[in-house]
Amino acid sequence: MSQSSLKPGVVTGAEYLTLVKACKDGAYALPAVNVISSGTINAVMEAAAKNKADVIIQLSNGGAEFYAGKGMTDSFQAKVLGAVSAARHVHLLAEQYGVCVVLHTDHANKKLIPWIEALLTHGEAFYKETGRPLFTSHMIDLSEEDIDFNLSECARLLTRMAKIDMSIEIELGVTGGEEDGVGSDEIDNDKLYTQPEDVLKAYDILQPIGHFSVAASFGNVHGVYSPGNVKLRPEILKNSQGLVQKTHNTGNNPLDLVFHGGSGSEKDKIAEALTYGVFKMNIDTDTQFAFAQSVGNFVEHNMKAFQFQIDPVDGTPYKKLYDPRKWLRVGEEGIISRLTEAFADLKSYGKTLAKDSAVSKVA
Ligand SMILES: [Zn+2]
Repeated sequence: MSQSSLKPGVVTGAEYLTLVKACKDGAYALPAVNVISSGTINAVMEAAAKNKADVIIQLSNGGAEFYAGKGMTDSFQAKVLGAVSAARHVHLLAEQYGVCVVLHTDHANKKLIPWIEALLTHGEAFYKETGRPLFTSHMIDLSEEDIDFNLSECARLLTRMAKIDMSIEIELGVTGGEEDGVGSDEIDNDKLYTQPEDVLKAYDILQPIGHFSVAASFGNVHGVYSPGNVKLRPEILKNSQGLVQKTHNTGNNPLDLVFHGGSGSEKDKIAEALTYGVFKMNIDTDTQFAFAQSVGNFVEHNMKAFQFQIDPVDGTPYKKLYDPRKWLRVGEEGIISRLTEAFADLKSYGKTLAKDSAVSKVA
């Protein structure tokens, strides 16, 4: 198998398709990590560089709003400009990490379509300026609407996106749990499993317009639940691939599939999903916890530095410990070690397509 190579940095358009194909051909996937700040973005890029792997950085609407700053009074503008600011941060720095980075947004339901449209306006301006889109792909989650509305709305948006070399990720079936206020805990069990007929319909409508990926539900749930509450059935993905392949006489695994709710999933089910064309696995809850746990341990072991600038008994100065660079860095290191586990689970360790990855500038 010939190894394609790409320039390090943000990948879009044809480069993104090369990356997705390499993942599927090699039966590996990239973690898509939700970020909320420049520090969490940098931690994700550092983790990718250390694992010689490509990575997907994504923002939910809430993450984008946080990125802009909780003090911004116009919450809609914060969601838009926070996402634009985060994307520009990645465009500026990603190349320095020597790996390929995909820029994505996470769940946008019907109420959040105006958010996506505003991002597309910024994306079109960025395209005019640089010849590439701001984001590689946006996710539209209209899985709670009826399928015809879901697909016609996605077709409308993909038509606009395709003009600036963007991809779309759609959702069919319902991922359990909720992600940043999108989704619900009360879902009828059948809906947790995507119907192959719906996937075929999506392929028929979207494939002629542009590139799309599908978040298919196979029992996956956002967040981490006690063992036994979730029954993952990756064979659902295989059935959808099979129906499209048979109907359209395509090659193996014609669909580019996305695994939502990757946090806390059984490792053997992740491995099985990789063989059915899953190239992206979203991870949020586990990296949030990794950050919090690392900071929590640090605070617990250095409690006095979080209470006193100078030790009241022996006069020891604690500046070196309460300096936010110290404990925020500990949180970043927590994210990096959790992502190292994710790159191993997804078999993407060492697989970067970036051609000068060997001279990655990250220590
Ligand atoms: Zn999701």
